[in-house]
Amino acid sequence: MSVPATDTERAPPPDDTPPKTTLYCSACGHESPATGDWLVRERDGRTVAVCPVCRETIAARGLASDER
Ligand SMILES: [Zn+2]
Repeated sequence: MSVPATDTERAPPPDDTPPKTTLYCSACGHESPATGDWLVRERDGRTVAVCPVCRETIAARGLASDER
C-alpha cells in the first residue's frame, strides 16, 4: 500500500474552532480578538462583549469567562 501524494491537497483547514476568535461590531465595524479591547459584561447570565467604540453589545463567543 502506498500513500497518494495528492491527498493532502484536499484537506481543508481546520477553522471550526480557531484558538483566537475575532469579534466584529455590527454597528461600527470595529474588530478585535475576543481577548482584545472588548468590554466584557454579564447579561442574562451570559457573557457578552460591548464595543469600546460605540458601546454596542455584540454576541461574544470565545471569551475566556464563557467557557464551561
Ligand atoms: Zn462598535
